Amino acid sequence: MQDILQQKVNKKLVGGYLFFCPDTLTLNEILLMCAKQILCDSNGDDNCPICQKVQCGSHPDVCVYPKGDAFSTDDSQSVILDANKKAILGEYKILMIKNLENSSEQSQNKLLKVLENPPKNTIFLISTTNLNKVLPTVKSRLLKVEIPPFDKQTLTQIFSEYQKQEDFALAMDYSNGYIGETKQILLDQDFLANYALAKNIVTNLKSSSEIVNYIVPKMSKNQFLDTVKFMQSMYRDIALVKSNKIELVKNKTLVSVFENISDEFSMKALVEIIKRINDVNKKQFSNVTLSLLFENLLTSILEVKYLCR
Ligand SMILES: [Zn+2]
Repeated sequence: MQDILQQKVNKKLVGGYLFFCPDTLTLNEILLMCAKQILCDSNGDDNCPICQKVQCGSHPDVCVYPKGDAFSTDDSQSVILDANKKAILGEYKILMIKNLENSSEQSQNKLLKVLENPPKNTIFLISTTNLNKVLPTVKSRLLKVEIPPFDKQTLTQIFSEYQKQEDFALAMDYSNGYIGETKQILLDQDFLANYALAKNIVTNLKSSSEIVNYIVPKMSKNQFLDTVKFMQSMYRDIALVKSNKIELVKNKTLVSVFENISDEFSMKALVEIIKRINDVNKKQFSNVTLSLLFENLLTSILEVKYLCR
C-alpha cells in the first residue's frame, strides 16, 4: 500500500495490481483504500468529498465489477469500453474487479486484451481469494500484492463503530486479522455464550458428576466448534502461563484466572488435552451426535487431567 503511494508520487503507477488474501471483505476494503490513495489529493487520509464518493460508490472515475455474481464476458466487454473513456474529475480512471477467481477462462482471456495494452492513466485494481484460479497470462500482466492480516490497532480502527459492543475486545483477539472473520464474530449472537461456556469448563469443571451442567442439548455445529476452539486456546494459555510466557497468551483478560488454576494441570496433561481436542475437531460429525461427542470430550479431558498429575 505504501508502494502505491510512492509510485503515485513518482508518477510510476503501473497499469494493474492484483491483490490477494483469503478474505473477500478484507480485499474489498483494500481496493477502496487504494482507489482513495490514487484519486484523493491527501492520499485518502482526509475523508474529503472525493474519498466519500469512492467509499459510497458514486465516483464517476471508479468503475466496479462484476456487475452480477461473477465477472462475465459481458463485464469484460464493458471494462474495455470503460477503460478507454477519459477520467472526468481527476487524472486517473480506476477499474476495480473483485473476486476474479469466480470468473470463467473465457472472460479472463477477454480481459487480457485490455490488460496487455492498458490505456494511459487507467489503473486496474483486481482482487482474488485464490491466485490459482487466475490465468497465468493475466497474472503476468499485473503487479501481485499479497495482503497480510491486519494488526490489532488497524482492525480496531476499521471496526471503531462496534467498540461499545460487549464482545469487541474478544473479537479483536479471535479474528486472525481479517475483516470477514471479525465481522462474523461481532454479528454472531452465540459468540459470547460459547466463550462463557468454554471458560466455565476450563476453570470450574472438576468432577465427572458435574459434566451434566455443561452439556448443551442439541448442540449446533457452530456452537460445538466455537466452544471447543475457545477451550483449546484456553488450555494452551494455561500452558503458557505455566511456562511464564504471559506475553503470548491469547485470552489476555483471563490471565489471573489461569494463574490461579494452573497448578491443577500438569504440563503433560495440557499437551494431551490439546491433542485430544484436535482429534475431535478432525472427526466428521452430524448434529445429532454433537452433544454426546461433547460429553465424551469433557469426560476424556477430566481423565487426562487426573491421570497426568
Ligand atoms: Zn480524500
